[in-house]
Amino acid sequence: MIELTQSTALLLYLGFTLATLLGVWLYSHYKTKSKKVLPLEKQLHICEFCHFAYLDINAKKITQCPQCKSFNQETVVRDGKLM
Ligand SMILES: [Zn+2]
Repeated sequence: MIELTQSTALLLYLGFTLATLLGVWLYSHYKTKSKKVLPLEKQLHICEFCHFAYLDINAKKITQCPQCKSFNQETVVRDGKLM
């Protein structure tokens, strides 16, 4: 029969627990690393009605203000100037 002292049993318990946590962490780390989120190209727009600045997708001609919900034509701000 294998004799286990109290300190050896505690050491084995902690070792198995830490190994399990390391395995779970490594699995989740490599699982999320493969999923890369590519940010969309967004531009700064300023609402014509409430002058609220917001970001929206570049390709849209008409954007909706998230604050007052009104629709705005393409007024793009580049380098701090309205275009
Ligand atoms: Zn607005």
